[in-house]
Amino acid sequence: MEYKITNAYCKRVWDDLSARYADQGHFLQAAGLVLQTISPVVDKMPELEKTAVLERLVEPERIIMFRVPWTDDKGVPHVNRGYRVQFNSAIGPYKGGLRFSPEVGLDVLKFLGFEQILKNSLTTLPMGGGKGGSDFDAHGKSEGEVMRFCQSFMTELYRHIGADTDVPAGDKGVGGREVAWMFGQYKRITNAWTGVLTGKGLDFGGSLIRPEATGYGLIYFAECMLAKMGTDFKGKTCLVSGKGNVAQYATEKINQLGGKVITMSDSSGYILDEDGIDAEKLAYITELAASKARISEYVKKYSKAKFFAGEKPWGVKADYAFPCATQDEIYEEDAKKLVANGIKLVAEGANMPTRAEAIAYLQANGVRFAPGKAANAGGVAVSGLEMSQNSERLSWTREEVDAKLKNIMTQIHDNAWNTAKEFATEGDYVSGANIYGFLKVARAMMAQGLC
Ligand code: GLU
Repeated sequence: MEYKITNAYCKRVWDDLSARYADQGHFLQAAGLVLQTISPVVDKMPELEKTAVLERLVEPERIIMFRVPWTDDKGVPHVNRGYRVQFNSAIGPYKGGLRFSPEVGLDVLKFLGFEQILKNSLTTLPMGGGKGGSDFDAHGKSEGEVMRFCQSFMTELYRHIGADTDVPAGDKGVGGREVAWMFGQYKRITNAWTGVLTGKGLDFGGSLIRPEATGYGLIYFAECMLAKMGTDFKGKTCLVSGKGNVAQYATEKINQLGGKVITMSDSSGYILDEDGIDAEKLAYITELAASKARISEYVKKYSKAKFFAGEKPWGVKADYAFPCATQDEIYEEDAKKLVANGIKLVAEGANMPTRAEAIAYLQANGVRFAPGKAANAGGVAVSGLEMSQNSERLSWTREEVDAKLKNIMTQIHDNAWNTAKEFATEGDYVSGANIYGFLKVARAMMAQGLC
């Protein structure tokens, strides 16, 4: 992908970065899109170059890499690789999830960590950007094996994190169960109960609405986009991909708002249920996901639905689309199908599910597009609220947290919308979110000097 990086300073940083990290395609895509969209603002701020803000922004403050030894149920030893990318702490402690998945390595974690800097800035809360994880694959592993892995992972990670230093949470492959095991191990080693992880259980410092937050926040954000388009969810048909936490709660919220979700998916394919995935059917999907069963089981129970092996749902006719599975779900040919099928809005529940070429195609064809760093920021926003509650030693009610989440998503939307109007094109949420998120971090970095 050729990025239209019009500012000379941005271009110089990009040329150096793309030569240095030529093997990190996901990271380069995340950085390229940011350098492209902030170019008009950098034009007006020569002070950025004088303090090397961009060179510093694209280089993590610190990367920790370590081995994670563990034994399986037969006593056979295994070794995985563990990482924490502490990308930027200008506006708050490093904050971002841990991903346990075979694709985890420096490319994926640097892209996720870089996105997290601007995402966390957009939430309006004081959180820096970080990401971590391991190439460990929990599929086919027993509970005991996953617990021993989590404990071993934390036995090294604990010395690098802390409630005021770096606060990890979950991501793909890391849910409440894994967070709890890692929290237990951290507490055991340090002999201190602190809010060092978010996404904890409700009985030990977790926040209400945290499990729902990414999916609900995505749909609150989409509601704001639809209001600008003069419409809403009532009677509208939606494509959702994924079947995990984000996809589940996005579907629940769409149902509550009178919309109809007709697809969900996993890496084996997608299901199409023209009658809509209602609350009862969604409960079944949640059960399948919890037991790590394949989505094709759905059509055995609901025989009117169809399963398409190895395919993605983007060729189905609908009004709105919500990619909620993982990165690289929508390529340019998928974007063409979405446009041809009359999709009016695409909002990312996952991190970078849409390739840069596909974003350009959607935007050029009048589809309103929201990038994940704005639309899926509800998860980390409620993580930030969990940190506040832990510091206060208080728990807020479900209604309080939900109202704060909705308010934050509305602010993110309005800030991105207004910024796009001022510096780019009306309705260009990619530019609006990147510029707004960047400016806060850049101001903080300049104020703190060359560090
Ligand atoms: N993994 C989530 C994200 O991509 C949440 C991170 C967090 O809560 O710290 O934003």
